[in-house]
Amino acid sequence: MALVKCPECDKEISSIAEACPHCGRPMKTGHRTVEQTSKRLKLQKPLSVLIAIIGLLLVLTDLDGSQMGGVGILLMFIGLIWFFVVAIMVWWKHG
Ligand SMILES: [Zn+2]
Repeated sequence: MALVKCPECDKEISSIAEACPHCGRPMKTGHRTVEQTSKRLKLQKPLSVLIAIIGLLLVLTDLDGSQMGGVGILLMFIGLIWFFVVAIMVWWKHG
């Protein structure tokens, strides 16, 4: 257990306190975890887009109908579904 300073009244309070006992300011103890999660989610968004773009490129460059076209469509689907899952999870956390 550590003591932290309340950003509202500048008095020392327990870091695990849910609210400041002096001024009643609610302390978000889970704030850091949420921040890390959203940061990880933000990283996943461009990754999922990248996978979808790679898939699209595979489809577009697959002029002779080889197996790469199928792989490309699969990658596009994975990328799009991943993108929507991340978008929903971000919305869920912030909504
Ligand atoms: Zn306070």
